[in-house]
Amino acid sequence: MSERTPREEAASIARAARRLLERERARGGGELLAAGVARVRAGGEGRGPAATPVATPVAPREATPVALFESTAPSESARFEAAAPDATEVAAPAGFTLSAPEPIAHPARARAEKPAAPAIELPPFAADLNPSALDDGRAAVLAESLPLLETIATEARACEKCGLCRTRIQAVPGVGSAFSGIVFVGEAPGADEDEQGEPFVGRAGQLLTKMIAAMDERRLIPGVKLDRSTVFICNVLKCRPPENRNPMPNEIEQCSPYVIRQLEALSPRIICCLGKFAAELLCGIRGSVGSMRGRTYRWRGAKLIVTYHPAYLLRNPRPEGPKREVWNDLQRLAQEYLTD
Ligand code: URA
Repeated sequence: MSERTPREEAASIARAARRLLERERARGGGELLAAGVARVRAGGEGRGPAATPVATPVAPREATPVALFESTAPSESARFEAAAPDATEVAAPAGFTLSAPEPIAHPARARAEKPAAPAIELPPFAADLNPSALDDGRAAVLAESLPLLETIATEARACEKCGLCRTRIQAVPGVGSAFSGIVFVGEAPGADEDEQGEPFVGRAGQLLTKMIAAMDERRLIPGVKLDRSTVFICNVLKCRPPENRNPMPNEIEQCSPYVIRQLEALSPRIICCLGKFAAELLCGIRGSVGSMRGRTYRWRGAKLIVTYHPAYLLRNPRPEGPKREVWNDLQRLAQEYLTD
């Protein structure tokens, strides 16, 4: 039998401790987050991918104006109408503002300052998914996810489970890695993605790339590099619906096992649903994006938030449009990412 490296050993101990902690918390009722996970697990993972809401909205922090997400006149397909907010959505103030990054106590440092540990110290919830554990748990998740993601991509490329296989140029499984533990889930590939085989490379995709770059530039998650290679980006549907129409229920049913398996392989720390279709699938509830955003849900061991699809922002480029809400959502993502 081959010997385990110290890194593998540490990851294994962290996983075992986490399982123990979860069992303890499930027994005692414990805090809300743990209860959410315990409920999902007690119900059996086979019961479906629905997420559990676990928190109330976080108030946006003090804002500094930053020009971001500039977009030209919209021309994206009407399929993104589905992502429109409720008519009662509060209008953003004039001018798009972003909150200045504030120093946030990083979990790694917070742990380092703790008093001497008792004989056995249980790690915080989902500790091996914490970016501060990049050297052990997250690195192990990253390594283990690579062959799984490759298998899923190969299967998706050969998939003939629905009619979209007859109209696609190629399937678009996903791009990126488990490195940061952040996953963005969109709706379905468009024409550019169908041609290139990579998600979010058209105009909406370029905006998503800018959003990720802005999070990195503003150091919303200090110490964790954010770009298209360190997050994972994928869609509910792996093939383009003709004329960019909305995904049909049978297509979502046939295709969603791919995104679910991708999420299982990635063990994300946080999932960001872009638009209504990803939100409805992973939250397990129906509604507008406007009604679903502003809360934190749980999907198995990961946190989950909902925000507007970037194509919706392209169609609503006014400074008082939904950009401000999206930036607030990205800040929520970062805050949730940084806390256990
Ligand atoms: N819109 C999506 O939802 N996904 C893509 O990959 C591109 C545009």
